[in-house]
Amino acid sequence: MLRRTGTSLSPPTSPPAPIASPRFSTPADRRYLYPFTNCTNCGPRFTIIADIPYDRANTTMKVFRMCHRWQQEYDDPRSRRFHAQPNACPDCGPRLELTDVHGRKTADDAIGRAAELLREGKIIAIKGLGGFLLACDAANREAVAELRRRKHRPAKPFAVMVATLEEARCHAEISDAEAGLLTSPAAPIVLVNWKEGSTITREVAPGLKHLGIMLPYTPLHHILLRRVGCPLVMTSGNLSEEPIARDNAEALSRLGGIADYFLLHNRDIYSRYDDSVMLMEAGHPRFVRRARGFAPHPVRLPFGCGQLLACGAGEKNTFCLARDNFAFVSQHIGDMDNSLTLQHFTETIVLYERLFRIKPEAIACDLHPDYLTTRYAEERAKMDCLPLVRVQHHHAHIASCLADNAVTGPVIGVAFDGTGYGSDGKIWGGEVLLADCRSFRRLAHLEYLPLPGGEAAIRNPYRTALGYLTALGMDIPEGLPALALAGKAGLDIIRTQVARGINSPPTSSMGRLFDAVSAIIGVRGTIEYEAQAAIELEVAASEAPDEKGGYPFRVEEQNGILIVRLGETLSAVIRDWREKRAQSTIAARFHNTVAAMVVELCQAISARTGLRAVALSGGVFQNRILLRKTNTLLESGGFTVYTHHQVPPNDGGVSLGQAAIAGSGGVDHSTR
Ligand code: FE
Repeated sequence: MLRRTGTSLSPPTSPPAPIASPRFSTPADRRYLYPFTNCTNCGPRFTIIADIPYDRANTTMKVFRMCHRWQQEYDDPRSRRFHAQPNACPDCGPRLELTDVHGRKTADDAIGRAAELLREGKIIAIKGLGGFLLACDAANREAVAELRRRKHRPAKPFAVMVATLEEARCHAEISDAEAGLLTSPAAPIVLVNWKEGSTITREVAPGLKHLGIMLPYTPLHHILLRRVGCPLVMTSGNLSEEPIARDNAEALSRLGGIADYFLLHNRDIYSRYDDSVMLMEAGHPRFVRRARGFAPHPVRLPFGCGQLLACGAGEKNTFCLARDNFAFVSQHIGDMDNSLTLQHFTETIVLYERLFRIKPEAIACDLHPDYLTTRYAEERAKMDCLPLVRVQHHHAHIASCLADNAVTGPVIGVAFDGTGYGSDGKIWGGEVLLADCRSFRRLAHLEYLPLPGGEAAIRNPYRTALGYLTALGMDIPEGLPALALAGKAGLDIIRTQVARGINSPPTSSMGRLFDAVSAIIGVRGTIEYEAQAAIELEVAASEAPDEKGGYPFRVEEQNGILIVRLGETLSAVIRDWREKRAQSTIAARFHNTVAAMVVELCQAISARTGLRAVALSGGVFQNRILLRKTNTLLESGGFTVYTHHQVPPNDGGVSLGQAAIAGSGGVDHSTR
């Protein structure tokens, strides 16, 4: 990777963009504008390694025969390219080519022509470091809308790449800490506050206040961004939730219906890596997606363990290989709901086992019987005659947070997410556990309420809202936004489903409660991507930052477990809606309510157990407002609060938790 200081690159664009490598940006140098320039400290690594030791012969660079000058640099200990395995020069290294959708070369100046085409509104698939990215002009609303249409991604936000930090500041409010993340060697996508007056079209992230922005992290990006002169959408080269395309032929085949042109090169990618996504909250960098630049850097465990493989969950999956004190959490693999992602998962496991010389002696997986990761784990355990440790999903979330903080517990574990298979076979997701890395006890949860239509309710939060209100025996007033979406006939069907228990699985999910409130007050009743209703409720809450109000909730004890009753909460939400309070006020009050709920439950559990440490995990804690409010309230109440720093709080961290539990001898639900 190039550092971002130094001389400017010709041809100039506005604003002029500095580039670091003197050779890269010096016209007389043979590497001038060569897009595969690197040195010993930068350039591709994990994306090109097939095996260790890290020698050129074990990388996809082995097909490029070193020319005399390249070999001299490589052999010279005084050279910055001494033993730089991907070292290359224009004479003998990888080359770029711009092609049409049939793979036919279309220009001699590949980058120059690609820049022209992007300015004309075309979509180009660009082979990058860990896979293909799809690019278009981020200021061109029609181009972005067309990319959405072709990618079958109607609303989920896209990331944007800009040439320099100075240019990024034209589009977003960027703190010093965020600037530090953007310009760090890992160069992740950073979620920052979108600025009024930015020329980036709202179509990039409809309805959101945060913009995912990144800086160039390869020489190719540096040259392209400077020649194109506008911010570029840079989104994973895939269709919907499939894995990112890796090979040229694969890209032409899979992305042929999306891209107009392909900017290809002949350096093969061995391992797929998506871009990492991070944000700053409560003074700390936090992961939303951990991949390029971070994985497989190990998480150091607070105990030693045998060699094991933890297979993760279903969505946003990662796996984790562990041995001794090290947990190697894989890069983001993706949603395990299609054969391409499963293949990516299994291939990457094979690669990691080879690279880290780990031969698992135990396999861990989720309790959910239908996850593809569970099936893989069962087959693998059977094939290799290994013990299989099945780990409850929310216990894994809390153990993940413990391992992330190098502690073993016990803690009061608050695990809030959308869906996780419970020990009772029901859908959990609003859980407070007494947990350590070995075992857990469920001490509190949201009351069970029905999801009429199951998956249909998750895609249509208005169904969840009406199901909840029906089950709680509440009146559904005329004009309620959730009712308007269902219609009278739709409501009758939902009522019948709930009354008779037809395809209405009960859930204690906090994610679904956010969905329900979002739909009840008309923020969002149907979604185009996961958690959209909850994310937009957070956006609404951000518009009432000083709101201090909250809603009532009732905590009842049943068989030693605290149950949070939500009837009074939702009644108060509807009362505010009837009184025409702003959505932002209601949303902020709801966030305050959930934070207060966490504190009340933790205090009650602390009084029984004497514990004063709380771990917050699960995808719901990606909600910055909730995380901030909960953290502040708990700390001011005298609790020590553990949150995530090394892995995401979402299901991308579950494999680490499974590994921590299996590695410390936790055997809950074991089928050894
Ligand atoms: Fe989860």
